[in-house]
Amino acid sequence: MTMHLLRPLALFLAAYSLHLGYITVFYHRALAHRAVRLQPATLRFVLATGNWVTGLDPKAWACMHRMHHAFSDGPDDPHSPAQAGVLGVLVAQLRAYERTLYGLLGRHPDYLRHVQDLDFPVHWLNRHGLWWLPYALHTAAAVLLGYAGGWGFGLAYFAGLMSHPIEGWVINALGHAVGPRNFETPDDSRNPWLAALLIGGEGLQNNHHRFPGSARFSYRWWEPDAGFMLCRALEKAGALTIDHGRLLPRPGPPVIPTTQA
Ligand SMILES: [Zn+2]
Ligand SMILES: [Zn+2]
Repeated sequence: MTMHLLRPLALFLAAYSLHLGYITVFYHRALAHRAVRLQPATLRFVLATGNWVTGLDPKAWACMHRMHHAFSDGPDDPHSPAQAGVLGVLVAQLRAYERTLYGLLGRHPDYLRHVQDLDFPVHWLNRHGLWWLPYALHTAAAVLLGYAGGWGFGLAYFAGLMSHPIEGWVINALGHAVGPRNFETPDDSRNPWLAALLIGGEGLQNNHHRFPGSARFSYRWWEPDAGFMLCRALEKAGALTIDHGRLLPRPGPPVIPTTQA
């Protein structure tokens, strides 16, 4: 592969990893589930920068996600393929995010009750109607990068950082529609392996719905979970603490049938 392609690819991977790290470790495993505890300085950093980097409000994201667990695949699930259809999840998740954000801003009890323990407000960008500003800035940065380094460069930056609608659709739709299950759960959650590989372990929805408080989503050794590897690296760096007491168990040894003598 020529440098012509390698450099945009490297930029895409860097931007995608940054975005995914925020969503899977900070928003999902830390804020929504408290499967990891952020150090106070890390929490302040995430709350200050998260909305700028991802374009998504940390409190609204956590609220919508907790509603997904509370009503999983039922009529009130914000983004279920059982309700909206596999393709319909693409739009349903965007509408649900918008509803949740305005529900929190309007102090609607149906939303507030899910995030009573999160003692931080909706980000000031959203309180002041400036939800579009991070998107505008990332678009401007992509255009500048395009001018400076070629359009592939600008596109790689934007696609990597702003991949959440596609990534969300893969997890929310396919993670509840295709792939094997390790556990009987009341929802339709599944473990699509490729989605888990590409999206930091987030594809392992069935494992995650069975053990939502576990920072590790992988159950079997071949189930990839880069998000948990990042949690461990950040724990070593002193940025957060994994709740080791709530990690999902490893599979037990296979049951070997005994033969009667
Ligand atoms: Zn799910
Ligand atoms: Zn979750």
